[in-house]
Amino acid sequence: MPGPRLDPKITAQWARVRGLLRSEVGDASYRSWLKPLTLVSVIDGTAKIAVPTRFMRDWVVSHYGDRLRELWVGENEDIDVIDVFVQTPTTRPLNRPAEKPAVAQQANGSNGFASSGATESRPEISAPIDPRFTFSNFVVGKPNELAYAAARRVADSDEASFNPLFLYGGVGLGKTHLMHAIANHTRAKFPERRVVYMSAEKFMFHFIRALRFKDTVSFKETFRSVDVLMIDDVQFINGKEATQEEFFHTFNDLVDNNRQVVISADKSPSDLEGMEERLRSRLGWGLVADIHATSFELRLGILDVKSERLGVEIPAKVKEFLSHRITSNVRELEGALNRVVAHSELVGREITLETCQEVLHDILRANDRRVTIEEIQKRVSEHFNIRIADMHSARRARAVARPRQVAMYLAKQLTSRSLPEIGRKFGGRDHTTVMHAVKKVEELRQADSAFCEDVDLLRRMLER
Ligand code: ADP
Ligand code: MG
Repeated sequence: MPGPRLDPKITAQWARVRGLLRSEVGDASYRSWLKPLTLVSVIDGTAKIAVPTRFMRDWVVSHYGDRLRELWVGENEDIDVIDVFVQTPTTRPLNRPAEKPAVAQQANGSNGFASSGATESRPEISAPIDPRFTFSNFVVGKPNELAYAAARRVADSDEASFNPLFLYGGVGLGKTHLMHAIANHTRAKFPERRVVYMSAEKFMFHFIRALRFKDTVSFKETFRSVDVLMIDDVQFINGKEATQEEFFHTFNDLVDNNRQVVISADKSPSDLEGMEERLRSRLGWGLVADIHATSFELRLGILDVKSERLGVEIPAKVKEFLSHRITSNVRELEGALNRVVAHSELVGREITLETCQEVLHDILRANDRRVTIEEIQKRVSEHFNIRIADMHSARRARAVARPRQVAMYLAKQLTSRSLPEIGRKFGGRDHTTVMHAVKKVEELRQADSAFCEDVDLLRRMLER
């Protein structure tokens, strides 16, 4: 996109500010929040920066506002005020010229795009929505606050907020829950909006059937009349080229016509294997919100809410114990709680630490396994907000090289793997590289107490 005309000096300063921020916040956050910022002007000490949505403005201002200003002032003393404002973008169609401005003045179904009046006769293609998965049942904490806020925004607006909203995170961390919550909320608040939720596998099934019956035209029509399309677990749309192609076009059609698309996957768009590059990059255009592994506090919060809902009193010690020991995902944590409660009701005994250990011995053992290098890489990447792929990549920028060294150091400390074995797990690096990383981290730990605390925190999290 051609930017506005700016003094080259200012442009260079802005590039440096962005570079610094990028190395501070990591690639993932940078891509989601800072890359879409456009510097529009610097006049009378005010830098005006445009963002595409109000949500984005609020987030950027509250999370990066101060830092943005500090860095700017560091580059250019004359700058005094940073004004982040919303400038609605026009659609950026991938393979066709823009036909109309996107986000503005779109009244529901009034743009002549499919859907006119045929509401009753439309076949229901959405999978059933579970009424128990609501926003009010979703416990929010640091690891999922962004995904939650974004999902809420989507459900609260009668026009597309960011397209697509891409939710990603590991198994059992609440992706499906949030999608159902969007459906429940939207259907209650905007009954006229047509919400369709389906698994990616189902989507493929429909499409392949349409191909077989040479009926892809009505397939497309069906999706065109949808206001909110949610496709769960798109990591399963891979390999099948024709389906990807179709998905891509359906997707573009919907986005171009300002319909909201919500996608979930277990990986970020750029890490989706077997998916065409152009589709991957398209999926990353809207807002990418990752759900991080649960924290101890979040698990505790979830146990509070769920036990209250079950109407049982669980001793604080037991909740702490469970939160400490069942860390894999929320589904398992929920399962453990249900089992403990069911057991106590059946045998008519109180819930104690001892009964808990007894009833859950198999789950506890499974959660007790030794820490693996993959886990270390995952935790460390999350902690420093870099892509897990950068643990293996050849990139040497400090923002990724340092976390990689920390992960190598922890791998040496916490596993019984040899230096060459560790090197192999980090993109086939030499054992001397691992040795150097270990030494470097030890030195930094001596020299920098904040860094030292950071590493110790990671270590404790991994050791549990
Ligand atoms: P995913 O689709 O990411 O694999 P789900 O949405 O199916 O995960 O979540 C698994 C279970 O955990 C569901 O029962 C869901 O209600 C519950 N769950 C996940 N995260 C939360 C949360 N933050 N608060 C309450 N329940 C949650
Ligand atoms: Mg799911």
